[in-house]
Amino acid sequence: MSAPPSTTSTLPLAARAAGLVGSVIDSSTSLLATRTHDIVRFAMGSPAPEAIPTQTLAEVGRETIGAGAADAFDYAATEGDPALREALLGALAGTGDATTAERLTITSGGMQGLDLACKLFVDPGDLVAVESPTYTNGSGTALSYQARLLEVPVDGEGMVVEELRSLGERHGRPKAIYTVPTFQNPSGATMSEQRRGQLLELAREWGSVVVDDDPYGLLRFAGEDVLTLHQLADGDPLVFSVRTFSKIIAPGLRVGWVDADPSLQPVLISAKQAMDTCTNLPMQRLVAGFLRGGHLAEHLATQRERYRLRKEAMQEALGEHFADLARWTDPEGGFFLWVTLEEPVDTQALFEVALDEGVAFIPGNAFSPEGRFPHALRLCFASTAPERIHEGVRRLRVAVDRVRAG
Ligand code: PMP
Repeated sequence: MSAPPSTTSTLPLAARAAGLVGSVIDSSTSLLATRTHDIVRFAMGSPAPEAIPTQTLAEVGRETIGAGAADAFDYAATEGDPALREALLGALAGTGDATTAERLTITSGGMQGLDLACKLFVDPGDLVAVESPTYTNGSGTALSYQARLLEVPVDGEGMVVEELRSLGERHGRPKAIYTVPTFQNPSGATMSEQRRGQLLELAREWGSVVVDDDPYGLLRFAGEDVLTLHQLADGDPLVFSVRTFSKIIAPGLRVGWVDADPSLQPVLISAKQAMDTCTNLPMQRLVAGFLRGGHLAEHLATQRERYRLRKEAMQEALGEHFADLARWTDPEGGFFLWVTLEEPVDTQALFEVALDEGVAFIPGNAFSPEGRFPHALRLCFASTAPERIHEGVRRLRVAVDRVRAG
């Protein structure tokens, strides 16, 4: 499986457009939609269908965007609808993401937050440090602004800051450092508090911006909370935090937020006005109603327990079918774990065979701009029930054995 090919257009394209790289992850949604046989889907990072609070959203929706609510279908203020801004500030109070009105901009999902970060900080040719493996769509956004990327290894404690320092010393100081610090996509690793402190110290020394992309932090099902980069920065303008409701309520809402230094607010608003004027108002009102009704805390508690059971099912299934052939991570929250095959099985080649056997995943090289990790793969445990997880991992082993047999 691969990202869409680059264009064959003969029109006078900008260099930026000619160099665009698509997302292997997003392309898997279209690809899988064309396959009609039974497939266990470990590919996309979507919440479980049964985790979408459709009943509550329907009730809230009747009040907020139902008959007579024409005002909910107008344009909204670019910084976000006041109802959502207020409800969100209330919902975040007491969490690691607590913030204030002058730091907050509502966005069209987390991806728009990443796009805004790059639009503000990345000129063509600038260096941006990314984790290795990294969230492809984040590195892809930086590439779409013609950044040059530095891949910084990740271990069980997140980005290896000492490696970042030595890469910066050899290649130049990165203008921005992109990290998914908690339950990282794709590895599941959480950056330790010590590493977070070191990262902020280095960014301060270099004058770099830290793009802190943390969509999964509220989905911890084991272990202890770690202070967020936003908390540790304690008002230092260098942290630009990107958040989304995609994983904690539903991705189709396309509602997220940016928490950034108040001095950036005017330029953030100007940049967003040049993109989409405002975030979809009906969905902002729906989310505001959900938060105002106090539904988020209970919803999160239910989802954490659901995802804990699924993560355990996947660990068990991997233990049963892959103990002789692979090692894998054991995340304390979020959606993903990362499997490394110890025999050199090419997971790109494995993808089609696995689909044929009825299981989908994302190949490891999709998470590295340089195509590292050819023998690794990302599995999403969140969207599949435990019994199906066992079946999917069993099918994956059958597919691996088919590839090994040549
Ligand atoms: N960052 C990370 C690390 C993600 O995993 C995702 C979603 N897969 C996003 C950003 C994008 O979020 P959204 O769907 O809200 O645009």
